[in-house]
Amino acid sequence: MVAARESKAASGTAQQVDVAVVGAGFAGLYLLHRLRKSGLTAVALEEAGDVGGTWYWNRYPGARCDIQTIDYSYTFDPELDNAWTWSEKYATQPEILRYLGFVADRYDLRRDIRFKTKVTEAKWDEATERWQLTTSSGTPVSCRHYIMATGCLSAPKPPEIDGVKDFEGKVYFTGRWPHDGVDLAGKRVAVIGTGSSAIQSIPLIAEQAAHLTVFQRTPNFALPAHNGPSPSDRMDIFQSDRAAYREQARQSMTGVPYPQQTVVSWQLSDAERRERFERAWAAGDLVHILTQLWADQGVDFNGNALIGELIREKIGAAVKDPETAAALMPHDHPFGAKRPCLDTNYYATYNRPNVTLVNLRQEPIKAITANSITTARRSVDVDVIVFATGFDAMTGAIRAVHPITGRGGKSLTDVWAQGPQTYLGVTVEGFPNFFMITGPGSPSVLSNMAVSIEQHVDWVVDRIAALRDAGFTTIEPTETAQAGWGRHMTDCSMVTLHRLANTWYTGANVPGKVQGLMPYTGGVGPYRSICDEITARGMLGFRLT
Ligand code: FAD
Repeated sequence: MVAARESKAASGTAQQVDVAVVGAGFAGLYLLHRLRKSGLTAVALEEAGDVGGTWYWNRYPGARCDIQTIDYSYTFDPELDNAWTWSEKYATQPEILRYLGFVADRYDLRRDIRFKTKVTEAKWDEATERWQLTTSSGTPVSCRHYIMATGCLSAPKPPEIDGVKDFEGKVYFTGRWPHDGVDLAGKRVAVIGTGSSAIQSIPLIAEQAAHLTVFQRTPNFALPAHNGPSPSDRMDIFQSDRAAYREQARQSMTGVPYPQQTVVSWQLSDAERRERFERAWAAGDLVHILTQLWADQGVDFNGNALIGELIREKIGAAVKDPETAAALMPHDHPFGAKRPCLDTNYYATYNRPNVTLVNLRQEPIKAITANSITTARRSVDVDVIVFATGFDAMTGAIRAVHPITGRGGKSLTDVWAQGPQTYLGVTVEGFPNFFMITGPGSPSVLSNMAVSIEQHVDWVVDRIAALRDAGFTTIEPTETAQAGWGRHMTDCSMVTLHRLANTWYTGANVPGKVQGLMPYTGGVGPYRSICDEITARGMLGFRLT
């Protein structure tokens, strides 16, 4: 089979393009548009049946963004920005998917996307200085540049529980929810996991199910969404000068236009801190609570602990049963060191008579049988299991293309055996003309990804076009530059509290995954400045041939 594919490629039947893009989500769509505008031929290869990426796959009840949608949008074209109006502060998955479809139509992108096509292998051919991609749909691709826009949260993590295969009821994954929906009315449902997708879906599942049992290993902080129309104060700032608003987001720490706080926690009295916290809680804005309470909240353990206490107080007030409330209170990580979630009736749902929380820290799951889940203390009969067990984040989708073979036959899996090594989170030494959008080592999941994606895409496409214009054929980071970026990543992470939490940011949620903080913690604006400086200094840290 492999030989057949190779001969097909060798005999010239491979699709020949300047650039192959893998993925047709936020990143892949903008890439196609930018590549075309730069006069490069391109194809996008997408496993799904249509555009949307995250928003194509995650159709579970309650799926929404958690960055306000006026910020979680493309900004590259002011006319596009004007042409679309979001109906809510936090748009639902169907609305975001419609938006991405609208973008695909507006720029006529689908004609260069091969849907239901999975890239399975990628090989750098030294002789031709081109990548050869093997695809699930037959026709391989030969390209000068290979860009993985495969997403940070696109490889669902398989459940680690024995006996799943013995279960005779229905099994669903939030990250692969059926397109025609699921009728849970009258069913005994189990949700396993209490991350963001679970916290969004649990209130809606509880409304339908006869009984819902939630199996929780680690509680998360959840903050009220107070969803509704976009807040008028934000809209006024946005409408008064959209260009300035967008620019401020690009230069900010998180990709959302908020200023850096300068007042630290100990400069405020208890009453002043509470007042700030209550105002933020009432606003229902994740980024506000994450960044705007006091300047030391993300870097000083004590300044951070104050917020954890205030949120635990809120959980205690929202959940009537003290034992359930206690189980829902996170104690194992600083607030913000793990991505907090947005709550629309999440805590209140545990006051319903048809909802039970099982604390797996006290009673781990022992087995799943044909019709039940058994813990150390009880057996729960269920008709449906919903796995909301998260993703093999940041590297999962990249490593799933196996092997990716670079210079000298080196495979990316081997090169990353001790964890991902990158230059800027975008390129890897030994893998010429290979790019990742929001790869490990970039701000990615610590940012408003729409802003980070646009920055990456602009930078990568501009570099490819400049390379072509200057008559070069390859670009690759040096070993020294890559090692330097690794040291810079570590330095930055030492001043934040992320290192104190075992999370999907560090790979801790995937058994056997090498642990280390994968996103860059230095901030979106500073990261952009570094990329621009590298360009201005003659592609510092890159080797061009
Ligand atoms: P994706 O949207 O993940 O698209 C990648 C695509 O690549 C997928 O369609 C996948 O099928 C395809 N693909 C992967 N591997 C292959 C392969 N080998 N061959 C072919 N195709 C392949 N971010 C925010 O900033 N704000 C939010 O509010 C927010 N909410 C989120 C809510 C949920 C439920 C989830 C899961 C994520 C959320 N994110 C949010 C993160 C979100 O993933 C990004 O914002 C953004 O959608 C990523 O776009 P992307 O194009 O980089 O990747």
